[in-house]
Amino acid sequence: MKTLNDFNFNNKKALIRVDFNVPLDKDFTVTDNTRIVSAKPTIIKILEDGGSCVLMSHLGRPKGAQDEFSLKHIVNEVSNILGVTVKFASDCVGEVAEKAVADLKPGEVLLLENLRFYAEETAGDVKFAEQLSKLGDIYVNDAFGTAHRAHASTTIVAQFFLEKKCFGYLLAQEIESIQKVLETGEKPVLAILGGAKVSSKITIIENILDKVDHLIIGGGMTFTFVKAQGGKIGDSICEDDKMELALDILKQAKEKNVQIHLPVDVVAANAFSNDAETQVVDATQIPDGWQGLDCGHKSREIFDDVVSKCRTILWNGPLGVFELPTFAKGTIALGNSIAEATKNGAFSLVGGGDSVAAVKQFGFEKKVSYVSTGGGAMLESLEGKTLPGIAAILD
Ligand code: AMP
Repeated sequence: MKTLNDFNFNNKKALIRVDFNVPLDKDFTVTDNTRIVSAKPTIIKILEDGGSCVLMSHLGRPKGAQDEFSLKHIVNEVSNILGVTVKFASDCVGEVAEKAVADLKPGEVLLLENLRFYAEETAGDVKFAEQLSKLGDIYVNDAFGTAHRAHASTTIVAQFFLEKKCFGYLLAQEIESIQKVLETGEKPVLAILGGAKVSSKITIIENILDKVDHLIIGGGMTFTFVKAQGGKIGDSICEDDKMELALDILKQAKEKNVQIHLPVDVVAANAFSNDAETQVVDATQIPDGWQGLDCGHKSREIFDDVVSKCRTILWNGPLGVFELPTFAKGTIALGNSIAEATKNGAFSLVGGGDSVAAVKQFGFEKKVSYVSTGGGAMLESLEGKTLPGIAAILD
């Protein structure tokens, strides 16, 4: 795997695809700068080598060149984080961009305007990618969040750099973390899958059954499995058309010697509301009019026991409706268990959408081994797919 350390950037211009798709408030202030901070090590290494950086990214989903999606709004934030005054080019291709790149000196950083002001970016247009390729000597991809897209800047542009392309530190770290879980991790390996629906996780479950020793299934998915086995789930969320699939997963797991752990008790509520009445009931005996919105104490203890004996842990998806404090306790308890296991030497990876939000919200970010920066990219990696942005560098 070619990474930054295989290159010396002295007097070179690095064209870096970063993921600066950060949230902004109505005054265009960056409200979460994690993605910019995550790209810093790559940028600093290139500057310290004596090179310069041309940063390209998308921001939001603009329809054409819309000022509210301009990357000019984040120039100050990027400058502050890097400790370098960042220049800005009001276009990402053509004369303006080429002139700004030509004027760039070693040690300097240039941020290009939003790539998605051009429809050619998401279309993966080859001519547009070729125009981008004129803006650097070496192409560096450090944007895991878009690595599952065959866009011009994430994938197509790589073909114009032959040997002169590599992963940035962040993307390399993402790849290594996933490999650690799916291929090289110390046993026993545990995957925890929560969230709302079986249907959105099914390909992941099928892919990881060959790789893990234990699988905890929690969250709303639980009830499709419980009902499929004849349990009473009251008004809990359920995908009836996935019940057969759920039984098949249980059968496959048995054949593959994977131990599946489902909640044994749940916090049931008489409404989908933080102020609803609640009772803890057996996961297979939920009364009509009640819905399971979190796992109960017994389940938390069982999960804690499983987590504590595993050496490699993947967590995707909350164990309950964590957005409502009344039903966040199972997810918090799991976070604590994983933090403890990590302290005792286990490798833990958290990734994919809502579990990342939960980990940040409850302060577990620094207590797990790695929090992935990519939602869709992470899920597709876990499904066993080779991401186009990664394949383009390896080619
Ligand atoms: P996902 O995006 O598939 O990881 O799903 C995350 C969502 O699942 C969160 O918004 C949770 O509120 C929701 N969720 C978790 N447990 C339950 C449950 N028991 N019933 C309904 N929704 C749930």
